[in-house]
Amino acid sequence: MDTVINTLTPVTGRIHSIETCGTVDGPGIRFVIFTQGCPLRCLYCHNPDCRDPHDGKAVTVEELMSEVRKYKPYLRKGGVTITGGEPLMQPHFVAEILRRCHELGLHTALDTSGFVELEAAKSVLEHTDLVLLDIKSFLPDLYREVTHVPLEPTLIFARHLAQINKPTWIRFVLVPGLTDPEENVKGLAQFVATLSNVERVEVLPFHKMGEYKWQQLGLPYLLKDVEPPSPEQVAKVVQIFRDQGLKAS
Ligand code: SF4
Repeated sequence: MDTVINTLTPVTGRIHSIETCGTVDGPGIRFVIFTQGCPLRCLYCHNPDCRDPHDGKAVTVEELMSEVRKYKPYLRKGGVTITGGEPLMQPHFVAEILRRCHELGLHTALDTSGFVELEAAKSVLEHTDLVLLDIKSFLPDLYREVTHVPLEPTLIFARHLAQINKPTWIRFVLVPGLTDPEENVKGLAQFVATLSNVERVEVLPFHKMGEYKWQQLGLPYLLKDVEPPSPEQVAKVVQIFRDQGLKAS
């Protein structure tokens, strides 16, 4: 009886927004779904309005898929990316979206911090072609300072991705004066170099485009005096990853 009820009940979740022609979250042109809710509190978050899991809007998977279907012709060399917020806060919802995307023959990418319940994430990974794993720092104390949560779950998640040989891109946000200590970057590069499933590393320069959202939410933005890194600073960090034999840009 339970099975019948589950089959008939639409799977719903909460999203913040969608972007129909994204080009920065995975290969090619992508339909990007921003889910609502995130357990991290990153100092540089440019989507602080994605954090509250009760905010955003409730949608069914079918409603989302009817939007995806409209853009399918444009997504042939790209696909669908689910980001947030933290998509893995809603594993059942996200797994069902990605499963339906695979039914349409679309490539699927999952952008996550890896701060998740591994068991719950496994059903999502079954329908994920590429993981974009954001590792926000490598020194445990610094990771906690940047995100307000511990590092270890993300490392466990990263090692699991390697064990199942899931294609993965690592993303690291370079914030001058915060995430740029050499031992932090080098430690991360050395760790990532042990993961044979990692295809590339993306060094993302810190920017302040989301600062106005912090103001709108009445939250103190602690990085207001921090400037984005120079091209030279970015190049230096990219080189640290390359020195470990990684493809980085
Ligand atoms: S993981 Fe992303 S959405 Fe969550 S707080 Fe950090 S930057 Fe913001």
